[in-house]
Amino acid sequence: MARLKFICDFDRCIDCNGCSVACDSGHELPLAVRRRRVYTFNEGIPGKQFSASIACMHCKDAPCAQVCPVDCFYIRDDGIVLHDKDTCIACGYCLYACPFGAPQFDKNGSGIFATKGVMDKCTMCAGGPDETHSSKEHHKYGQNRIAEGKVPLCAAMCSTKALIVGDAQEVDKIYSDRVKLRGYNLGNLSTPDDEASDYPLTSIMFG
Ligand code: SF4
Ligand code: SF4
Repeated sequence: MARLKFICDFDRCIDCNGCSVACDSGHELPLAVRRRRVYTFNEGIPGKQFSASIACMHCKDAPCAQVCPVDCFYIRDDGIVLHDKDTCIACGYCLYACPFGAPQFDKNGSGIFATKGVMDKCTMCAGGPDETHSSKEHHKYGQNRIAEGKVPLCAAMCSTKALIVGDAQEVDKIYSDRVKLRGYNLGNLSTPDDEASDYPLTSIMFG
């Protein structure tokens, strides 16, 4: 099965926040949770300022899953990293392990450390472990667009197509083609096709 992944093409991101607003409203997220955020770096420095839309990167080696003491994370065959809110004890280990700050306490749940709620994070619009399209799944995890063959809300909403999601090799190819058209030196971006799905393109982009 193809592995799915997100990338944000920084040269196309215009900091409009359409992706994050679409995510917030489409999944009816509590105020405490921002599954996707847009950051601007090097603000005010001519030629160096850029914006990036960041959420869970659905890591192949998912550090969150490695540290969770109750194994509430699971990785689907298509690479989407999901978690079970009914199993979460809200210990916060995943929050500290995640390099992208993706897991966040929802403050409305009922974990053992109940005041902070249970952990929430981007599902790549793929729901959770409850029955697909059930009210339980929708209430706990939001929309399940992947089950309907749709792209995640954020990527669908991005007007400049800065956010791309899909088969990892195709996503890598789209980004590589864009970079070549811009005349950049590809450097180590040109990975062999057979390694493309394993290659953490986002970490190259972050340098
Ligand atoms: S919708 Fe696209 S352009 Fe707008 S902030 Fe998000 S990634 Fe950037
Ligand atoms: S929550 Fe963080 S560590 Fe876990 S898969 Fe997402 S980005 Fe990776």
